[in-house]
Amino acid sequence: MFLQNWPGALERSYRLTHALLRPFGRWLVPGGRAESLLAWLEEAGKGAVFDCRMCGQCVLHSTGMTCPMTCPKEMRNGPCGGVRTDGRCEVEPEQPCVWVLAWQRSRAMPRYGDQILQRQPPLDRRLYRTSAWVNEFSGRGRRVPPGWKD
Ligand code: SF4
Repeated sequence: MFLQNWPGALERSYRLTHALLRPFGRWLVPGGRAESLLAWLEEAGKGAVFDCRMCGQCVLHSTGMTCPMTCPKEMRNGPCGGVRTDGRCEVEPEQPCVWVLAWQRSRAMPRYGDQILQRQPPLDRRLYRTSAWVNEFSGRGRRVPPGWKD
């Protein structure tokens, strides 16, 4: 999606959305009325812009506003060892490596760009199709498996 080539603007839009939702944080709880509405909005909006797969634990601002779930291997930390020397994917050679794009785009993000250097914890697949914003504000999406160390 062409908008992804404007990572600085997308970063500002992420910060704005976070600031707008923060006052309503106490109502953003799993299973609440807001969740189904937000999940629907996320699927429509982020689906159109980021090809969002509704993982429920959004890390876009840590991955150059590039969805890691669009990697054919769904790698949350990348790139894998198979990225081609021309920067293309080893599984889908007609497409650029998602992680090469993520790195390039992260360099245009003054606030969160360096978060791409942090390791992401394993994905909790029980959160698929739930609202990432609800999971963020409720803390459900920030839980990590026992023993996980960043
Ligand atoms: S990281 Fe998850 S929630 Fe965020 S855009 Fe990708 S699939 Fe959607």
